[in-house]
Amino acid sequence: MKIKKGIGVSPGVVICQAVVLDAEEYRIPERHISAGLAGEEIDRLENALAGSREELIELRDNTAKRLGKETGAIFDFHLALLDDKSLLEKFRGKIEHESVTAEFAVAVVLREYAREFLQMPEYLAERVKDVYDIEKRILRRLIGQSREDLGHLTEDVVVLAHDMTPSQTANMDRDHIMGLAIDAGGRTSHTAIVARALGIPAVVGLNDITVSVDAGDMIIIDGNRGVVIVEPDEATIQEHRRFLQRQVEFTHELDRLRDLPAITMDGHEITLLGNIEFPSEATNVLAKGGLGVGLYRTEFLYLEKETEPTEEDHYQAYCKVIEVMEGRPVCIRTLDLGADKYTQAHSLIPERNPFLGLRSIRFCFQHLHIFRTQLRAVLRASMKGDVSIMFPLITTVMELRQAKMILRDVMEDLEEEGVEVRMDVPVGMMMEVPSAALQSNQFAQEVDFFSIGTNDLIQYTLAVDRTNERVAPLFTAAHPAVLRLIKDIIRAGQRHDVGVTLCGEMGGDPEYILLLLGMGLRTLSVAPPIIPELKKAIRSITIEHARRVARHVATFNTDKQIVSYLRDQIRQVMPEAY
Ligand code: PEP
Ligand code: MG
Repeated sequence: MKIKKGIGVSPGVVICQAVVLDAEEYRIPERHISAGLAGEEIDRLENALAGSREELIELRDNTAKRLGKETGAIFDFHLALLDDKSLLEKFRGKIEHESVTAEFAVAVVLREYAREFLQMPEYLAERVKDVYDIEKRILRRLIGQSREDLGHLTEDVVVLAHDMTPSQTANMDRDHIMGLAIDAGGRTSHTAIVARALGIPAVVGLNDITVSVDAGDMIIIDGNRGVVIVEPDEATIQEHRRFLQRQVEFTHELDRLRDLPAITMDGHEITLLGNIEFPSEATNVLAKGGLGVGLYRTEFLYLEKETEPTEEDHYQAYCKVIEVMEGRPVCIRTLDLGADKYTQAHSLIPERNPFLGLRSIRFCFQHLHIFRTQLRAVLRASMKGDVSIMFPLITTVMELRQAKMILRDVMEDLEEEGVEVRMDVPVGMMMEVPSAALQSNQFAQEVDFFSIGTNDLIQYTLAVDRTNERVAPLFTAAHPAVLRLIKDIIRAGQRHDVGVTLCGEMGGDPEYILLLLGMGLRTLSVAPPIIPELKKAIRSITIEHARRVARHVATFNTDKQIVSYLRDQIRQVMPEAY
């Protein structure tokens, strides 16, 4: 039995067999195939080589067109490697005689090849980078194939991976994937967000879980404590089964709160909304007692398939959500592509610093056809329900004005075409960059509402990559600087009568509820499975207590003091949750 500690990002416990996804840039573990399957494995290899060849020819021709023939010719070496018969024979030999997977054969043979280059004179040793590059290209194809299989599982599994791309997460077979254990990532990485949305236990930041486990091993994932247990003994399994039983009872108890209001003991009503990534989640918002959709992350439409969604694809997705919501509010956030989502995978030259790069609204301004297509669909759908629009990652007033101008322009186009749209659709912005938070009084004069995106606000205020497990302990909502920005935004909203919602992951953590309500927040949008527990916390507290807590928190200088004080306070009113 091995116990691995990571970061618990989605609560719950699951005991199940593992599927391991290999990582493209990491060690490919030695896996064996049954002898009769060598032929199939060689077919996979040949397909991957053919696909890589096609990709390289396209890359060479495009590069030659843009940067000249000589630059394009650097890919000729890669193509020559792929056509090298002796190399192909070595791959085949390994698969046939040693019964290993195609991935393992490619990795071993090319690593040997790279070592040979390293012994050569310096100008040839440089070529080793090309060998690594071609290795990655072939592996990406091979691993890509096995990754796609995650969409078509026949039995329940937990998935162990070095990392998952947003597209993989978006395409997971939600009926059979019972848990996730990931080497990389932090609390607010997309994998963590989707796991929470789907209500499956998940632990991230495990560093090397993928090399410690073989496919088929029995695994316990404990999302509450951030622990993964490999090949547990019988006593450990029994202990976790008992915990699971208690969880089920607690969930049933919470489900009974579904139709009750989220009202504090001294009579203040709080609005709890749901965050969604896929239209299919809308029903779960209602099932968990949410009063509407406070954040629809529409970029997931792009992550679910290879081709760009059409205006009709957008429109159908939005209509589906609006229909399920039956007149309740639906806040559609415009595309937040970029950083780790979509654009890096689709760009020839990835950005050096994508979280500070061409992401989100900036990407939309440079790809106006994509932005306008989405706005047309949102505006058309706005006729069907209580729809509002919000723009992500606004950092300057000029950006907001530009976004609103484009929206107005699209409205006029639709009007001219005779398409009915709501001219007064409420327009809001995400508050997720310190520059915007610091200017919240100015912004409040130009929008109908704010939505505080604490995931990015924390990342940009504390200079901590939200997806990097190595700095995950530094990522905290309790930093006094983050709290001061949140307070400023809430105050500006109150002063200018602009609604304020908080839709980052901080809102779903009951530890922060006293503080947030004490600061004056009255609307939260969280992953649907979290709504019942949050409602229970709200129904157990008073605003008077919350205000006292907020005042006291303002006297601390460190996040550690704040976290321990908040934990202590919520435990006093809700001991059963801890
Ligand atoms: C946020 O940044 O807090 C947020 C809600 O948006 P996302 O997690 O999609 O970046
Ligand atoms: Mg964000």
